[in-house]
Amino acid sequence: MSEPIDIARRGLLFVLSSPSGAGKTTLSKALLAAEPDLSMSLSATTRAPRPGEVDGVDYDFLDMERFEAMRAAGKFLEWARVFNNCYGTPKAPVLAALQKGADILFDIDWQGAQQLRGQLAADTVTVFILPPSAATLRARLSQRAQDSAEVVAERMSAAAAEISHWAEYDYVIVNSDIQDSLMRLRAILAAERAKRNRLTGLSAFVRGLQSEL
Ligand code: 5GP
Repeated sequence: MSEPIDIARRGLLFVLSSPSGAGKTTLSKALLAAEPDLSMSLSATTRAPRPGEVDGVDYDFLDMERFEAMRAAGKFLEWARVFNNCYGTPKAPVLAALQKGADILFDIDWQGAQQLRGQLAADTVTVFILPPSAATLRARLSQRAQDSAEVVAERMSAAAAEISHWAEYDYVIVNSDIQDSLMRLRAILAAERAKRNRLTGLSAFVRGLQSEL
């Protein structure tokens, strides 16, 4: 016997951070493909698009002036400077999604995770992705043809800084196998969705249940 049960729920902000090269982009894509009720937050950035990146899909690519105007107008939920570029999460779509009970995936750095946690603590779930070894990280970064050797070196040292924030996260996954990491991410998401304090329709549901007992 199975009846559809629809209990109203507040959405959650599912944040993934990692050093560049730990497999976070691959994992985010796999998670989005596996979870139809999860959608990606679209960040704004002043960084130039890489080959193949599409404006409005990968990022909203803004010049510094427009980014600064949005920042000054308080239109970012969080923003940070990463690798000499600015990145930020526009506030309005996130707040609207939360109200609707929609879950949003964020690929943001530790500074962004910290700010989200500060502003929307009860709604934010954070996961840090670690590479299985420094050698794997170096190999993955070197394979990225788009980035120069100088950028690779810069990102290796940035990785050490990013990793130093691992203990601020709710969950940590060592990404040695994509399928295994994906399974863990989905398990975390399922458990967090089932938390009592997110199920805003639960007391009404239980009252209805009790009235018929
Ligand atoms: P990339 O330039 O390689 O796309 O991203 C560089 C770093 O910026 C990554 O660690 C990514 O998680 C982070 N990032 C991307 N968008 C945002 C954002 O909106 N806010 C913050 N704080 N970090 C971001």
